[in-house]
Amino acid sequence: MTTSSPIRNLVLVLGDQLDHSSVLFDTFDPKQDLIWMAENNTEATHVWCHKIRLVLFFSAMRHFRDVQIDHGRNVRYHQLSDDPKKDKGIDFKELLQADLKELNPEKMRVVSPGDMKVEHLLKDAADEAGMELTFLEDTHFYVTKAMFSDHTKGRKTLIMEHFYREQRKRFDILVDDKGKPEGGSWNYDDQNREKFGKQGPGGLPSPPVFEPTSVTSVVIKLVEERFKDHPGKLDSFDWPVTREGALEALDDFIEHRLPKFGTYEDAMWQEEALLYHSRLSALMNLKLLNPRECVDAAVNAYHKGNAPLNSVEGFVRQILGWREFIRAIYHQEMPSYADRNALQCADRDVPTFFWDGETDMACVKDCMDSVIKTAWNHHIPRLMVLGQFSLLFGVHPYKFHEWHMAMYADAIDWVSLPNTLGMSQFGDGGIVGTKPYCASGNYINKMSNYCKGCRYNFKEAHGENACPFTTLYWDFLDRHQQAFTKNRRMVFQMKNLERKPDEELKKIRIQADGLREKIDSGVRI
Ligand code: SF4
Repeated sequence: MTTSSPIRNLVLVLGDQLDHSSVLFDTFDPKQDLIWMAENNTEATHVWCHKIRLVLFFSAMRHFRDVQIDHGRNVRYHQLSDDPKKDKGIDFKELLQADLKELNPEKMRVVSPGDMKVEHLLKDAADEAGMELTFLEDTHFYVTKAMFSDHTKGRKTLIMEHFYREQRKRFDILVDDKGKPEGGSWNYDDQNREKFGKQGPGGLPSPPVFEPTSVTSVVIKLVEERFKDHPGKLDSFDWPVTREGALEALDDFIEHRLPKFGTYEDAMWQEEALLYHSRLSALMNLKLLNPRECVDAAVNAYHKGNAPLNSVEGFVRQILGWREFIRAIYHQEMPSYADRNALQCADRDVPTFFWDGETDMACVKDCMDSVIKTAWNHHIPRLMVLGQFSLLFGVHPYKFHEWHMAMYADAIDWVSLPNTLGMSQFGDGGIVGTKPYCASGNYINKMSNYCKGCRYNFKEAHGENACPFTTLYWDFLDRHQQAFTKNRRMVFQMKNLERKPDEELKKIRIQADGLREKIDSGVRI
């Protein structure tokens, strides 16, 4: 195809759709079709995006483009310039509109975007250009919109566990001929809450190091120059950015960390962010990895006797259960979901130390150090340390989602919003999770070694050494007493609150008010 040949399909590949087996290529004709990709300046700057997230997206996109060109496909690729003046003010929609005018394709085709805002933007651009736009079903996922719609029929509430079991049977994963779960149980959560003893995790397997490719090095330079004020560090960037790298990361996890993944799934340890986790979520969310190949690799490891059932089931549950459920909830509940704020007094900004990690709270500091260095934490630091602090402190749920979108390499709107606004911040009032995830500093002490070296005392709720988690936890229960008393899953916690003497509650309220005042005014705690 020459640049002057008429174009049949302008085939849009979005930054989180780097699927080498995409349904887009099933009918792609290099003689008539043109791939269109653009590095999104608006996306990079509308929230204060982590440098690693920017490098990961742009480098993976450029590698994907190069592979398509090697396959003989034509690509129009808009690359951000080192010099912001050259493309200043040109956003994604403007670029697309200009190209539609210039290229005048017959049609546009794209896989249904994961982000509903992007879907609307594309529809608007197509409408304004008077062009036909086809959204193709995203075959990357196991569960189609129609399957989820069937699942919801006749159900008053949606429970992830019910959804997950249905998918295990539907896709014949870890079930026998009669549809019974492998090992006799649908989940092995009771075996997956082990903590490390005083001696710590010991010798952990070293993950593979993915040195920056020449493409990545160019992008790192671009991001360092153009986005220098953004949070995060790039000096130890080691994310895989190609399909081959992603497969290597998967193989490494299956062989070296999956066997103990389940047992220590919820444990934390200072300066050991990865432990036995996979860090594959970002690669799946960019679609460099397919969830089926991740699930199949784990199940094969189990059948070969290389990984125990509790680990393999726990891993399968995260992908086939949570990941698919969360996506389905997003599509079902959006766009109004983004406006939900069930605990209406949650209206604060994220604390200043959520950007730079400068705090005396040892747990928050360590989790933030990992976010700044790697743009990643496993689910417990996100949910029970940083997410929980935000919930107890009273950050607006959508602001917490925006912060999460900015700071994590694996954050995409469809996955971040239900996980943050819903599960972590209880902003949806119980759609994703049936109770708020909240605990005192005692939980963090139980699951990690953070409290040992902390200047605060996890047992104290008021006074000079009081742990901010413990103070804010009791204050949180107290402030929402009326709402939580009606929640059957909160009975135990509310009974404990009732046992607190009035005098103590008074001191806790004063301490909590003081903390909020300090944090709101930017004082480090
Ligand atoms: Fe975190 Fe409180 Fe433990 Fe310090 S004492 S590490 S603030 S839970």
